Amino acid sequence: MSDTLKRIYLSSPHMSGHEQKYINEAFEQNWIAPLGPNVNELENILAKYCNVKHASALSSGTAALHLALIMLGVNSGDEVLVSTFTFSASVNPIVYQGAVPVFIDSEKETWNMDPDLLRKALVERKKNGTIGKVKAIVVVHLYGMPAKMDEIMSVANEYKIPVIEDAAEALGSTYKGQALGSFGRMAILSFNGNKIITTSGGGALLSNDETLISKSRFLATQARDNAPHYQHSQIGYNYRMSNVLAGIGRGQMEVIDERVQQRRANGVFYKKAFENIECLQVLEEPSSDFFSNRWLTTMLINENKTKVTYSDIQVALEKYNIESRPLWKPMHMQPIFSSYPSVLNGTSEQLFKTGICLPSGSNLSETDRENICNVIKSCF
Ligand SMILES: *Cc1c(COP(=O)(O)O)cnc(C)c1O
Repeated sequence: MSDTLKRIYLSSPHMSGHEQKYINEAFEQNWIAPLGPNVNELENILAKYCNVKHASALSSGTAALHLALIMLGVNSGDEVLVSTFTFSASVNPIVYQGAVPVFIDSEKETWNMDPDLLRKALVERKKNGTIGKVKAIVVVHLYGMPAKMDEIMSVANEYKIPVIEDAAEALGSTYKGQALGSFGRMAILSFNGNKIITTSGGGALLSNDETLISKSRFLATQARDNAPHYQHSQIGYNYRMSNVLAGIGRGQMEVIDERVQQRRANGVFYKKAFENIECLQVLEEPSSDFFSNRWLTTMLINENKTKVTYSDIQVALEKYNIESRPLWKPMHMQPIFSSYPSVLNGTSEQLFKTGICLPSGSNLSETDRENICNVIKSCF
């Protein structure tokens, strides 16, 4: 049966129809390079949309985070406090730098970094005299849900530790009316194929600090000194975004608000479909201060009220060629990261055990959504 059904993905690329025009321009002008008008224009559009002064378009969100850490001086033996409930790309660049990730668990309302645990980690380090090793805090806005930024920023400011927002999943989300990506010293975005908009692969770094953004462009183009010959005084990277791909980004940004609205409509649909199934709880914003782009709709299955697990639901959906996925497995539980320090409260482990991500593309049809809900309801 599943062979004959068109696969429904968790989150697949959704073109606007405006992309080709900018790609053609790049070809006509022969800007087939990691610089050019599409790159410049995409940077302007992103900065404006996220309410920051500057943006640099890069080859991936991971590259953006790597450069952010380098510019904050993160080096061998330093510590970076990071959400444990996230995708590995939030952590890998910390390890590229030879630094130590310190995993901070989630609070229950947004599932993001718990400000109290963040404080606990900093208090402990102050007491031990190792606070000087803490070079940055990477706070993730997971599934598009804003973290509790007032509380996070207030703790970070108290200890004078710079914050990098990992807004890879959160373009279009706001906290107290302010765009995510505009709270920290820097922020990263991702335009990977599964994100709310895509350039097939790409990312960006955001900041109000022009020095940081121009430095990121310098580092991302092999750190070439200002000289007639090729001269290098620093290690560089090949992390810039191609002008062809930036054209896709321009076309995608023309419909970003529509995409946010479509993803949020999925969340509303699922919420309503399951409102009479007591053991299913779709994640919603804790208050009107939080506005999520609902990149993915997620829900928890209350294990005290049913024997059905996320894996039962996943198997049932797969029979109809519908993709679903457990929530992110916390980083402190990952084989590669399990030896690093962590400050835990059990929340992310519990979420991982009982949660599931539902198909959430902006291109889902009404029929797709109904079919998905019917399959899930049939499990109960
Ligand atoms: C996708 C993602 C990244 C990495 O972005 P890439 O562009 O794929 O390198 C980083 N953090 C989170 C939370 C992500 O979901």
